[in-house]
Amino acid sequence: LFLSASLLASLLTPQTSTLIPYASTGYWFPVLYGLAFLMFGGPLGRLLSFALFVVSLLLGLIYAVSSARALDGSDVLVLVQLYTSNGLVILLLEGFARLAQLQNEHAVALERAAYSDSLTGLGNRRLLEREIMAELGRVQRYGKPFALVLFDLDHFKAVNDRYGHDAGDAVLREVARALRFYVRQVDVLGRWGGEEFVLLAPELGFAEAESFAERLRQVLEGHDFGFAKVTASFGVSVYGPGDTVGALVKRADEALYQAKALGRNRVSVSLAPGQSRTDDLRRALEPLRTPPPR
Ligand code: GH3
Ligand code: MG
Ligand code: MG
Repeated sequence: LFLSASLLASLLTPQTSTLIPYASTGYWFPVLYGLAFLMFGGPLGRLLSFALFVVSLLLGLIYAVSSARALDGSDVLVLVQLYTSNGLVILLLEGFARLAQLQNEHAVALERAAYSDSLTGLGNRRLLEREIMAELGRVQRYGKPFALVLFDLDHFKAVNDRYGHDAGDAVLREVARALRFYVRQVDVLGRWGGEEFVLLAPELGFAEAESFAERLRQVLEGHDFGFAKVTASFGVSVYGPGDTVGALVKRADEALYQAKALGRNRVSVSLAPGQSRTDDLRRALEPLRTPPPR
């Protein structure tokens, strides 16, 4: 309304203002605002634009005050239009910057959701597969082995049958919560599906991976789940030349199957053909850390 009124007024008023040369320069300022937002992004672009705006405002005032004659209506109109249009352009750019930021956050949230398991908050199978692929790439470059630990809760169907599916879900969440504390920053702990989890442990050979799995087994065995006793069986595989994601998982699965067959609540290791475990197996376990309060 204000803009249409001033537009109308400017059409009806003879443009005699001596400020028109000044204003015609000022109408190019939006280009500078745009450049500032484009080059420096939201926060700095906003600051620079605002600074420019203030400078032009001051210059306008000085120009107006220092001009020999008193300001008439058409001078005021020119200045008001100049600064209103400049201010609106800055607001518009600010709006675009906010929109871009929201879109960015949305994309990040989508990406996070695509790679996380909604029940436990751990990484999901897709993330695990991506990370195993990445680890396969790294092992070829740096020659560092890595281990895969696949574990499956024992007799979990009985937990569901006896306490209900919601209680089963709570156990799955609690397993994630309990174990997350014991994995290193470089490890990836994720839910493979159902009541099966995977730990991807970079730079571990057989001895360390087996100790690591054994430690997780003990943590679960000793953890207070409230109503039910929960244990898991673990299968360990370690990278061997020519391995693919599928081959590594298959070996870990075979080891897991063996752990189940041997009576559950234990760790089994599977070797690829030609693979041998070194002799420093069964490295002493460090004492367990105290779990965080519930
Ligand atoms: P085993 O020791 O041989 O692994 O026995 P199990 O009972 O754990 O194995 P089985 O494969 O027979 O059963 C797995 C159970 O896990 C059955 C299924 O209802 C339950 N389960 C899988 N995913 C979920 C889930 O997301 N939530 C709940 N509550 N239960 C699940
Ligand atoms: Mg299972
Ligand atoms: Mg099971």
